[in-house]
Amino acid sequence: MSKFDNSFTDELRQRLSLVDVISRRVPLTKKGQNYWGCCPFHNEKTPSFSVNEDKGFYHCFGCGEHGDIISFIMKSENLGFVEAIKELADMAGLKMPEYKKKTQEQIDAEENYIKITDDAAKIYQDLLYKDAGKHALEYIKNRGFSDEMIKKYRIGYAPKNNIISSKFNNIKREKLLSTGLVRIGDFGPYDFFRDKLMFPIFNAHNQIVAFSGRSLDGSEPKYINTPDTELFHKRQTIFGFNFAREAIHRANRSIIVEGQIDAIQMQNHGFSETVAPLGTALTEDHIAILCKSNRNIVFCFDGDNAGQKAAIRACALVLPFLRDNSSVKFAFVSGGKDPDEILKNHGESAMRKIIDSATPLTDFLWQSVNKNYLVNTPGGRAQAEKYLKDLLSKINDKILQNEIEKEYDNRKFNQWHKWKKQEYKPTVELPDIDIMTVNVIKSIVQTYPEITEKYMDFLASLNISFDEDVQKTDLSLGDAEKFVVSLKLQRYIKKLESEKQELLSNALHGENYDSDVLKDIDEKLNKSRDKLETLIDINK
Ligand SMILES: [Zn+2]
Repeated sequence: MSKFDNSFTDELRQRLSLVDVISRRVPLTKKGQNYWGCCPFHNEKTPSFSVNEDKGFYHCFGCGEHGDIISFIMKSENLGFVEAIKELADMAGLKMPEYKKKTQEQIDAEENYIKITDDAAKIYQDLLYKDAGKHALEYIKNRGFSDEMIKKYRIGYAPKNNIISSKFNNIKREKLLSTGLVRIGDFGPYDFFRDKLMFPIFNAHNQIVAFSGRSLDGSEPKYINTPDTELFHKRQTIFGFNFAREAIHRANRSIIVEGQIDAIQMQNHGFSETVAPLGTALTEDHIAILCKSNRNIVFCFDGDNAGQKAAIRACALVLPFLRDNSSVKFAFVSGGKDPDEILKNHGESAMRKIIDSATPLTDFLWQSVNKNYLVNTPGGRAQAEKYLKDLLSKINDKILQNEIEKEYDNRKFNQWHKWKKQEYKPTVELPDIDIMTVNVIKSIVQTYPEITEKYMDFLASLNISFDEDVQKTDLSLGDAEKFVVSLKLQRYIKKLESEKQELLSNALHGENYDSDVLKDIDEKLNKSRDKLETLIDINK
């Protein structure tokens, strides 16, 4: 039996991205499958230093330097092995364990453990097809499981009586207890799983390290898992990953669904890259494990409120792992159904439609912010801004963070502030501005966010669509502002002139008018014309 590998260095490799770690010292750009940069180990001007994230090593075609995340830190910072591990542990936010090699005793204990869980699985598998397991078999068949699937996933039945504690009574008690399958009660040992449909949980080496038992009599909780043991850490284990690993690589993405049965059904209906967390809570470790292969994830949640909340949680967890080439999307299954039911009732194509039309992370985040905050009030918008800012700060790739922020600034301007144009009601219709002016304004908006912010109301009142991409303006900040101000003044003057005209023509038709109002308009007109004079030559 192969050694169970659960050492700290493995966890570090799992947690940390080689590209992230190397990027701290060497700027890297992605070309093809690899990242490239100038070698930190020899002097060069054109990049010949390549980093392969998938395989976890770097190689320099100039000087031949070669290694993994640990040797990179050792060489580039001139550290010993343990010190390098310490530094990496700091980066990963992990506590250094006491560094000890596995003793023969530990290795034996692990092999023993795997033997017990494997034997237990065999007993459960047998019982599923016996009288005792009849109701369990009926249940799983009703859920659309074929015998083949039952065999592949080694699904079984844990009976009502204490089968493990009695059948394994020749095994040392502490060994049995270490697997979590048996507990000690007032009347001696008893089985942890009783009258449950049993789903084995495998480690990456296809060994059973734990079980997830589903209740069959409608009692809650629906699922109980083996409590954490030496070899099973719920937070670091993804259901179905051993089966999906290859497919995640091939499909260049992973799909995360909420339930284990969903994951199995997805894997068997054309989505072999599907996994599920154990229980409901997704953890950072789960994301880290998936991101080792690639950073393309489709989260598939229920369309209800709980699903939306879970999606927002997932969003916060995945943000630190985002890269400029990642694709993270959210798919929602509506109507209180889960993927299992969609597949059963509507087939693979219906599910594919749901996955294919998943919402990209930036859109999902924007939509949920607009749903959850009162963005038509200044206070609500402020709350939404703070929330977004806080969330986006989790992105490690700062250039990407900046780009997403800019994208949102654009949306804020177009969607949050455009409502103002309805509020702005000129008493007289103003003529449209010409296309040239419109283009200059667009470029200014694109180039100088500070101007956009300062003259937000006026710019919104122009009723220009700022959606499309335009070139940046050549005008300096000062001149751009003068351009905006002069346009604002011209519009203001036109408005005053129309008002004056209206007033006078009303007077001509015998209506009374307030001479003070006319005087007021004339004063404003004179002031504005003077002000415009000082600006106008700059624009010509
Ligand atoms: Zn080199």
